[in-house]
Amino acid sequence: MAQPLTDYQRLCIHTMTTKPLSLSEAIEEYTRAGVSGITVWRHHFEEMGAKEAGKMLDDSGLEVVSLCRGGFFPARSAQGREAARDENRRIIDEAAAIGAPLIVLVCGAVPGIPLDEARRQISDGIADVLPHAAAAEVKLSIEALHPMYADERSAINTLEQANNVVSTLRSPWLGVTVDVYHCWWDPMLKSEIARAGNRIFSFHVCDWRTPTRDILNDRGMMGEGCIDLRSIRGWVEDAGFRGPIEVEIFSDEFWQWDQRALIEQIKRAWLVHV
Ligand code: ZN
Repeated sequence: MAQPLTDYQRLCIHTMTTKPLSLSEAIEEYTRAGVSGITVWRHHFEEMGAKEAGKMLDDSGLEVVSLCRGGFFPARSAQGREAARDENRRIIDEAAAIGAPLIVLVCGAVPGIPLDEARRQISDGIADVLPHAAAAEVKLSIEALHPMYADERSAINTLEQANNVVSTLRSPWLGVTVDVYHCWWDPMLKSEIARAGNRIFSFHVCDWRTPTRDILNDRGMMGEGCIDLRSIRGWVEDAGFRGPIEVEIFSDEFWQWDQRALIEQIKRAWLVHV
């Protein structure tokens, strides 16, 4: 089991966690709170554009950990799949512009497309955009999503499936994201984390509330749910991961809080539960 963290050097927060804040407000609040890193969701710079956001982030001194998110490769038509690949190439350019070394991929699923076919389309789509990622020096990271999202968000639902794509495509620019919300339940988690090894590009934390009131926007604060966070962090670190730990909480409840108070709550939970 990992040792408790004693400072905020590895603390990164997703702008989605503090969704009510604009990008500039998030930068200001994270900096004020002593948070080290920021993962930026695309809609947070949609209006100003990636170039302007990049300048703002560069000036902030925060570490830009990743851009969320790319993916959504499967589609019913060849044209739709090509459009998805073009969109991913644009997202890669945006990541380069904001100084993000990594894009998290939510790989996609389409109701009616069988999951194994969707996984083939995902693997083909990633293979197609990988050269663009390599040229831009931006890594792509496959995040397995909880199976409750297999209908329309991702046909990659276990770390094993994510690892399989990584081992098939064999590129230094492709790895996996371990998100405890999606994979805490998986009996193969420990061994698949070990298998992923240095291909673990990022690590996302929150907690699983009981009961979960909404399958999208009811993630818990670390420590208020049933995820054995400290053990999972230990496995990830045993596999060699020493990077930022990203707090990603979608929560209708927390989005109603004063966001400064929320960040302080994250810092408290960080020291006790992560
Ligand atoms: Zn995540």
